[in-house]
Amino acid sequence: MIEEIVSYNKDRVVMIDEAYIDFGGQSALELINKYDNLLVIQTFSKSRAMAGMRIGYAMGQPKLIRYLNDVKFSVNSYTMNRPSLILGVEAVRDDDYFRKIVGMIMSTREWMKKELSGLGFSFPDSRSNFIFATHEKYPAKELFEYLKTKKIYVRYFAQPRIDNYLRITVGTDDEAKALIDALRTYIR
Ligand SMILES: *Cc1c(COP(=O)(O)O)cnc(C)c1O
Repeated sequence: MIEEIVSYNKDRVVMIDEAYIDFGGQSALELINKYDNLLVIQTFSKSRAMAGMRIGYAMGQPKLIRYLNDVKFSVNSYTMNRPSLILGVEAVRDDDYFRKIVGMIMSTREWMKKELSGLGFSFPDSRSNFIFATHEKYPAKELFEYLKTKKIYVRYFAQPRIDNYLRITVGTDDEAKALIDALRTYIR
């Protein structure tokens, strides 16, 4: 699918945003060896929980990266500061911690999927750190308001096509359990 987009658009640069890739998705990274119009971008803002550090990176063939550098050195106003550089390096070094945390989120997510399905929710399969779920009997807005009274905050967007969905972030096991318990009380 992604390869089709890249191969049908050889006269354009295709950028694949892999902000959530570490939570178990399949990366398009290896395709950069085959296509010189592909740029794969990743960030430290999600799986590494370092949003404020502003660390992101793009991967592509040398020629494409060279062009990006040309632009960057003349107009880039998002240079990285020294604390970000130092902490970013340390984050990459501590691979055990990274894998442990990402593993916890993925296992909590899988548990949440099972519980939400059991409660009658449906959702596209998630390989990220959130689940985008809908319920055919209970309007999302109503569930959103109810959860808020329990001090459980999920996201609700009053927008066409998604106004019956909740965007539920995968938190800790305890948070997930509190959510499921609250929903179980409401949905009967
Ligand atoms: C968080 C996010 C990014 C990257 O955010 P930065 O903090 O700017 O690195 C990119 N795309 C999506 C879809 C995201 O959710």
